[in-house]
Amino acid sequence: LPPHLRMDAGGNVRVVVRVRAFLPREIERGADCLISMDPITQRTTLHIPNDSDPANTRTKSRKVIEEKAFTFDNSFWSHNTEDRHYAHQEEVYNSLGEEFLDHNFEGYHTCIFAYGQTGSGKSYTMMGTPDQPGLIPRTCEDLFQRIEAAHDETPNISYHVRASYFEVYNEHVRDLLVPVVPNQPPYYLKLRESPTEGPYVKDLTEVPVRNLKEILRYMKAGDASRTTASTKMNDTSSRSHAVFTIMLKQIHHDMETDETTERSSRIRLVDLAGSERAKSTEATGARLREGSNINKSLTTLGRVIAALADPKGGMGGRGKRNREIVPYRDSILTWLLKDSLGGNSKTAMIACISPSDYEETLSTLRYADQAK
Ligand code: ADP
Repeated sequence: LPPHLRMDAGGNVRVVVRVRAFLPREIERGADCLISMDPITQRTTLHIPNDSDPANTRTKSRKVIEEKAFTFDNSFWSHNTEDRHYAHQEEVYNSLGEEFLDHNFEGYHTCIFAYGQTGSGKSYTMMGTPDQPGLIPRTCEDLFQRIEAAHDETPNISYHVRASYFEVYNEHVRDLLVPVVPNQPPYYLKLRESPTEGPYVKDLTEVPVRNLKEILRYMKAGDASRTTASTKMNDTSSRSHAVFTIMLKQIHHDMETDETTERSSRIRLVDLAGSERAKSTEATGARLREGSNINKSLTTLGRVIAALADPKGGMGGRGKRNREIVPYRDSILTWLLKDSLGGNSKTAMIACISPSDYEETLSTLRYADQAK
């Protein structure tokens, strides 16, 4: 791994890959696992399936099995639960979420994205299930545990937490903490830019939260709103980007001078739209526009992250010229997340892949590879 990409060496971007376990229907049809991961080198290899091109007998007859290999900062494996490299939700949190929360307490903004085709494990990774909570509920839990512990250890610091939850659908922003009104078209919020704060969503609900129970209640309400609205639009939520934001403010009270100092950080946890929509070729009219909007957000995001990871560009480097061409403005998503994607911030991309889908997996691995 090039030293500049390492976060402990000052790098600001981390790219990891997670392959999900087989689903019952895949086991039923005897699907092959096309992925292998080396836990030492973090190398992920995609193996071309034998049946990928029935007309191409060359592969079989010469027994040449083609492979594509990529190396990321981390690789999370999910096959054979007895395998000690198996990455359960807890390991994913421990190796990524926990460190990012450290950065938040140090005052950095952070952003974690889940990227991948629909069904590759994005919402499992971010939200999880009641039995297997993902990064968002674990971050919330850890956050309030740390705040509670700090009450005793550092009583001169007070902590204030707020949360918001919105989705970007077709370049429009919808507040997920406002209940969906039956028989009404979805209500979209306006975007504004403040000279001091940068881009923001006007009138977005930001709720103060005092404990884990409260924040989880908002998280669930937002999820329900996302699902209700997408069902009304006769669709799944795979076409929108969902952005869960936790705002942490630490107020430090200096007992001697009686002065207070504030430290604010934003924690963004983003479940991106399914990447397969981006290149659907059969779409026409509204679907086509929607597909190209998703495409635009995802390609822009890839370019923004790549620019940030580039030691000559991004915020870690000195290349002023490159810094100016980070293309935040090319999509609503990157524009709104600008404050969390550069400057005083840390970014992670989790590339989620299915174990037996060659085409989509290759495209996801390539995307992740160009982002790092
Ligand atoms: P996406 O959000 O990318 O559309 P999901 O998170 O809904 O995909 O995952 C699809 C299915 O796979 C769900 O049933 C989910 O529970 C399951 N799944 C995803 N990742 C894993 C994993 N690492 N281990 C076990 N099951 C998983």
